[in-house]
Amino acid sequence: TPASVGPFTVVLLGDNGVGKSALASIFAGASDSMGSECELYGGEVFEQTITVDGERATVTLLDTWDSQDESSWTQERCLQTGDAFIIVYAITDRSSFLHASDLRIQLRRQREANRTPIILVGNKCDLVRCREVSISEGRSSAAVFDCKFIETSAAMQHNVWPLFEGIIRQLRLRRDST
Ligand code: GDP
Ligand code: MG
Repeated sequence: TPASVGPFTVVLLGDNGVGKSALASIFAGASDSMGSECELYGGEVFEQTITVDGERATVTLLDTWDSQDESSWTQERCLQTGDAFIIVYAITDRSSFLHASDLRIQLRRQREANRTPIILVGNKCDLVRCREVSISEGRSSAAVFDCKFIETSAAMQHNVWPLFEGIIRQLRLRRDST
């Protein structure tokens, strides 16, 4: 087997309750590889090696973001440690969508290099009757902030792997262009 690239550190960001831990546990539960988990700053860290486009990549996923933690030490830590970021909102919660934009601005401020891969994720897309944010709003927000966009449902396991594969492809593109 060829050596894997990475480990890449990928950080989950977003309001409490949008589904970050649900997404992380799907990532952690991938059965074809040995995942490991541990705790950090009261959150969780998961490591997986997955194969994308025939190449193995190791990802360390941080589910340590706490949107209520105003002390901001851990928040700053999170924003500084990532090689890539997954900004999650719930399509059923407009304020989480607005906060996702704030996070994008915060990230841009913290990291002058605009080459950090970021994916904006509209989670809970199974809750169609409670939708407060349309797909086109999500898409255009991502376009404004120059990042990728995907809608997922952790509950239905819909688009969750395409999300993680997408972030790995972006990390590789960045690697290959340096
Ligand atoms: P976190 O605070 O961002 O980590 O959010 P959690 O992963 O703890 O999820 C908050 C709540 O939303 C839990 O009750 C989850 O079961 C639920 N949830 C997470 N993702 C989905 C989803 O895609 N669809 C639905 N219907 N519920 C979800
Ligand atoms: Mg959580």
